[in-house]
Amino acid sequence: MHEDVERVIVSRRRIAARVAELARQIAHDHAAPDGSPGEITIVPVLTGAMVFAADLIRRLPMRIRIGVVTVSSYPGRTVTSQGPALLHSGFGDLAGRNVLLVDDILDTGATLSMVHGLIQASGPATLRTCVLLRKIGRQSRDITADYIGFDIPDVFVVGYGLDFGDYHRNLPDIVKLRPAAMAGAGRHAEAR
Ligand code: 5GP
Ligand code: MG
Repeated sequence: MHEDVERVIVSRRRIAARVAELARQIAHDHAAPDGSPGEITIVPVLTGAMVFAADLIRRLPMRIRIGVVTVSSYPGRTVTSQGPALLHSGFGDLAGRNVLLVDDILDTGATLSMVHGLIQASGPATLRTCVLLRKIGRQSRDITADYIGFDIPDVFVVGYGLDFGDYHRNLPDIVKLRPAAMAGAGRHAEAR
């Protein structure tokens, strides 16, 4: 185990199995009326969802387009959300498309709610949402996701795309870091 890791919250083995299940469900729900594979536009919320989206799309046996959006809620080494800021939207015209919004974590719901509104405004035919993780008891808005990988406790996690200070996205498991590895995060570190 990496020296900065305190414990594994979701292992790479469980992630892989669940991604395959989610993909089966998504493909089923987006199939054409005659049962043939449908077409879908995946909108991953960068940067956190890139690893999850990369694994997910390779499990989807259908026509796929990708349009990304970049949002940041945790600038630098902070572990409490500063509120989502839209940095870049590159998903083009989604009018009439079947869109799947993909994010890493559903925490308060502010990010998903903001991007959902943005996409909805461009008139997609369908708009569904998929998150790998949902933090239990954190959602303050009435937004949920259509597809949820895992419910996890309210701890700050990294790995599988998720960062702390822009590092650790490459860890294959979703983990909690040792407090020493997060030292210097400022007053937010003690708050969680
Ligand atoms: P929300 O807007 O739902 O409060 O927060 C969602 C966003 O905050 C996620 O897209 C993710 O980027 C970030 N986030 C929430 N919880 C965590 C966490 O435990 N670890 C990391 N690295 N990012 C998180
Ligand atoms: Mg994110």
